[in-house]
Amino acid sequence: MIPNVTWPNELWLEALVQAKQLDAQDVLKEKRQAFVIPDKIIYLDGNSLGPATDAAQMAGQSVVDAQWQTDLIKSWNVHDWIRLPRIVGAQIAPIVGARDDCVIACDSISINLYKLLHIALNLQSDRQVIMTQEGNFPTDGYIAQGLMAHRSDVSLVYVDEKDIIAQLDESVAVLMLTHINYKTGYMLDMRRITQAAHALGILVIWDLAHSAGAVELSLDEDEVDFAVGCGYKYLNGGPGAPSFVYVNAVHHNRLKQPLTGWMGHANAFAFEQDYIPADGIDSLLCGTPNIISMAVLKGALTVFSDVNMTDVRQKSLTLSSFMVSVIKQHPALQSLELVTDMHDAHRGSQIALAHPEAYAICQAWIAQGVIADFRSPNILRIGFAPLYISHLDVLRAVDALALIMQHQSYRAKQYQTRNAVT
Ligand SMILES: *Cc1c(COP(=O)(O)O)cnc(C)c1O
Repeated sequence: MIPNVTWPNELWLEALVQAKQLDAQDVLKEKRQAFVIPDKIIYLDGNSLGPATDAAQMAGQSVVDAQWQTDLIKSWNVHDWIRLPRIVGAQIAPIVGARDDCVIACDSISINLYKLLHIALNLQSDRQVIMTQEGNFPTDGYIAQGLMAHRSDVSLVYVDEKDIIAQLDESVAVLMLTHINYKTGYMLDMRRITQAAHALGILVIWDLAHSAGAVELSLDEDEVDFAVGCGYKYLNGGPGAPSFVYVNAVHHNRLKQPLTGWMGHANAFAFEQDYIPADGIDSLLCGTPNIISMAVLKGALTVFSDVNMTDVRQKSLTLSSFMVSVIKQHPALQSLELVTDMHDAHRGSQIALAHPEAYAICQAWIAQGVIADFRSPNILRIGFAPLYISHLDVLRAVDALALIMQHQSYRAKQYQTRNAVT
């Protein structure tokens, strides 16, 4: 690997040695082979859309070509399609520290938040305040706002995520928080906040979109009430993969979800006139599961079957701290301002760099084969998926970035035009 001309010699050699050392100690390095990432691409956007794996591709082909084509409607039984939401839920359960029967895969995070907000408000009949963090991912707030259109008694309060516990009080029914901030990568203390909320009789919903598959989670042990998470980010389930819902077993016999579709009925194929919810987590279902997506996600999750989440977290931390340490020392990169809190306890699996030209810089980086993303208004967002990124990849990515910054090649016109999806 030959560096570009921007490096001070000492720094380059030191960084190269360090990258090689860290990679030599990497217990997850074999996992890279499970992924099919195009040649020469360094993919730092697995926090937005995880890449394909052989297993996911094979599962997709098999569900269409072998199962659907050959066994037609019999597949619901023969290939257990009907149980896929629970089968996939059980695959996700160990990744998030949950009992198998507390997790189900279905619908999107947005839809599942709608269900959970109703369920939680129902359990808190004397309280009507939903509290969330300022700067939360927009859909979380939008869903609460949509719910308020039918529930004029409910209100939504936004609070500073650096100071949540101090702002809790007994008027709050539900605390709905994203565990790792989608933009800055700031991570909240799930256990402490959940405990503090419970002490005031507040129920908590955690959005794990940027957590599941990237950091260690212990939902059962932390006595989390409810959670949702994403199938297509760190779990690599493919575009629009189903999300998942977690409901703590203590709430299983008092779930009243609002989207009372037939798949959540106690006996869907009895075709009864009146809705009776299924027991426990199955009642979170609404309509027919999206089997093709679900099958791809099931295939993708096999990559995690022998992975220890402590190792994943450890590597995620060294990947991001290594990148930051090199960026901080590189003379060509001083105009990029690190926004992420680098304390281990508060950093997820991504970093955010602010720059007025972040969008164009990101485009120029992509043109060099390094895929990250941009978040409005000025954030270059870099995700670290420990199953397929190496420290040498990180060094190569920084190398490409340094060249772009040194020559200001991001100023070229083709990098300045915004695409529909950033
Ligand atoms: C990606 C993301 C979502 C996605 O929601 P969908 O309804 O599944 O599209 C939700 N919340 C957060 C915090 C996210 O980052």
